[in-house]
Amino acid sequence: MTSEHRFIVGLQDVKTLGYQCKCGAKIVFPIGSEIGPSDACHSCRTPWKPQQNQQSAAWFRGDETSSFVSLLRAITTIRALEKEGVLGFRLVFEFDQDSVSDRA
Ligand SMILES: [Zn+2]
Repeated sequence: MTSEHRFIVGLQDVKTLGYQCKCGAKIVFPIGSEIGPSDACHSCRTPWKPQQNQQSAAWFRGDETSSFVSLLRAITTIRALEKEGVLGFRLVFEFDQDSVSDRA
């Protein structure tokens, strides 16, 4: 018999947010920050944003960059609503134990 461990995390459980490079370097910031991703990794200098030849028209229109900031803003808004106690529910994320430990 196998057992499956899952983690349920709510926005109140999130301590910091950040961007992590493929090299492992991270930039973290407190919730409430509305920081878009940098142009390149501060450690290995790998470009973080699509390059012109990668044909990401949405990125160059600004849609994708603003999506990161919109998400951070939405997290702040939803957390505030949850803290006010005006909702009959909370937003949760469910993770498999394997997916959590693989990225630790
Ligand atoms: Zn890096």
